[in-house]
Amino acid sequence: MSSLHSPFPEPQLTPPDPKLNTSTLGFTSSPVSSRHSSNFAQIQTWLHHCTTTHTRCTELPSLISPTAQLPSRLLDVTSNTIKLDCSIPPSGALPYTTLSHMWGTDPSACPQLTLATLPTFTAAIDIADLPPKYAYAIHITRALGYRYIWIDSLCIIQDSAEDWTREALKMAAVYGRSALNISYVFPPDKDVRENYLRDPRVLLPCCTALPGKVSTSGSKGNKGEKGGNGEGDKRLVISHRPNFHRPTWSPTVYKKIWPLLSRGWVFQERLLCPKTVYFGQERLLWECCEGIVDEYYGPLTTVPGSKSHFHRVITGLAAGLGTVARRETGSTGGGEGKELKREENDKFASVAYDEDQSEADEQWGPLVKDYRAGDLTKEYDRGIAFAGIARAIQASAGVTYLAGLWKELFAYDLLWTVGLVVVSDEERQKAEKRKAETREAPSWSWFAVVPMANKMGGDVLDWPFRTTMQTYRRHGLFEAKVVGFEHPKGENPDALLHDFAGMSVTLRAKKVPCGFEWWEQFDMLCVVPHGETKWMMGKIANTWKGEAVLPRVLKYAHDDSMVKKGDVLPGDACMVLTTEQAWHVDKADPAKRTHDFVKGKDVPEGWGTSYQYAGIVVVPSGVDSQGRETWRRIGAFMLFDNVTGHDLTGPFDESKEEDIVLV
Ligand SMILES: [Zn+2]
Repeated sequence: MSSLHSPFPEPQLTPPDPKLNTSTLGFTSSPVSSRHSSNFAQIQTWLHHCTTTHTRCTELPSLISPTAQLPSRLLDVTSNTIKLDCSIPPSGALPYTTLSHMWGTDPSACPQLTLATLPTFTAAIDIADLPPKYAYAIHITRALGYRYIWIDSLCIIQDSAEDWTREALKMAAVYGRSALNISYVFPPDKDVRENYLRDPRVLLPCCTALPGKVSTSGSKGNKGEKGGNGEGDKRLVISHRPNFHRPTWSPTVYKKIWPLLSRGWVFQERLLCPKTVYFGQERLLWECCEGIVDEYYGPLTTVPGSKSHFHRVITGLAAGLGTVARRETGSTGGGEGKELKREENDKFASVAYDEDQSEADEQWGPLVKDYRAGDLTKEYDRGIAFAGIARAIQASAGVTYLAGLWKELFAYDLLWTVGLVVVSDEERQKAEKRKAETREAPSWSWFAVVPMANKMGGDVLDWPFRTTMQTYRRHGLFEAKVVGFEHPKGENPDALLHDFAGMSVTLRAKKVPCGFEWWEQFDMLCVVPHGETKWMMGKIANTWKGEAVLPRVLKYAHDDSMVKKGDVLPGDACMVLTTEQAWHVDKADPAKRTHDFVKGKDVPEGWGTSYQYAGIVVVPSGVDSQGRETWRRIGAFMLFDNVTGHDLTGPFDESKEEDIVLV
């Protein structure tokens, strides 16, 4: 977000309340609680501004749901008698709002549409029978001039598995086409009328502006251009309550005060709708594709995981795939593994580091990690609660979703890794129990990895290999390709979005046998190509803490994060190469390098070659119904090496491409 051209308007100036600190400079918060009806004006202002000036917010619905699919039912709230309207057309431009909320530990406390209540709800629903959070969302809907609102518990038949699955798979469209998502951020056991929705005057917020140029470190986007004394000012909001005002919006941080955001299902609800108003706290917040704005504080800085960043995943993924498609032009044809074209390059010109790495590459990993951090009542729902995101990206970027990976980026997406965890036997049993509750997923999908904390407290799943290989993908020598995939429910395209059991992928790649070794020096498991340690490491370059440090190390991440020394490891494992890259580099100035690697060609004095490759380790997994030999993934590897001159050899040099069925 530009610091000088905020996408958000001036905060609304309302007559200062006598109890509000009147020293506020040019920026007055509304002196009433977020549940006060006058705050509808604030929401109206945000909505109007977003709808009329934000291109990205206006475009998102058609990117996410090009067919303009509509939910099967909507609540008609125009009159005092609320009714469930079941005659909604399958698609079209019908504006409605949506509600995001938590059901709570006792789902029966939530009014629910069932096969039995369907006729009653279609006739009339008394607003007095609805929980206050529903009633409040209905008030907002009416105040904004909308006729319809979608609320999950009232619009999906809760005791019909068929209806539930069908409507759950429409989530991308339902939230993507929502005119406004009303997000109730507090836990369900809190009544919207309780005093935690206190009058903000008790906080005595004071907003002032710091004059002059100030450092923006740690507070970008909070300069007082919208109410201070001029450009370069920084706004300061003082409140007697700690942690009340934050200069940065981060879903991870806000999860601690807004339990709603820690729910797995809410993840896609939050990201797919172009516009959200967060209510249930003392003040209102607005989030859309252009950023986030606090009723008091004005625009906040956003971090990955925000809606604006998700928008970049959607648009960036398409752009990134454009890069791949361009490079493949003139190669051996679509869908097949191949040696990428190596052009002669005599210039050895100075070229900049790859800076065209798409935003999506950076955002995808954090997005998945954020999602995995969300709580689900049933771990079984992990796939379907992400299906809306998958469908949205599939529709907008024209890519194919394969159990959490993209077919078009499969060689890279396969490179997820699982970090080591040190756990007790009890914790191991818990993890195994959770794994048993997880819906079956193929071994190559990160859905097969149960969310679990690593040593640092983050998720065990990560993408360091993928990130490195993606960054340098223009230097590709080889890329494995998906030449086919099979799904037991292949006739139903919706099943591909969430039901991954029995899925297989045929990868055209190179494969070599390998062994394992426990590396005492670093207390870690290593993979040994061809069973020969010569491929594992290079010459000793220097020392660290008295130990030899090697310039080249074949990194290996075992999928069973609880592997320990002494465990029996398979003797028939193979390494599957998915990407291989090389380029020439001026050793005196690593920023100088060539686009292409030319094997056997002399390089200028002082130049060397950088070489890296990555892939997965597999073990035989029997024969499938078609009589094909299948393989199961057990880990991922990556090697980076730097050599003087141009000579380099790798363990895959002698192997030919073959079709490998991964299950
Ligand atoms: Zn907007």
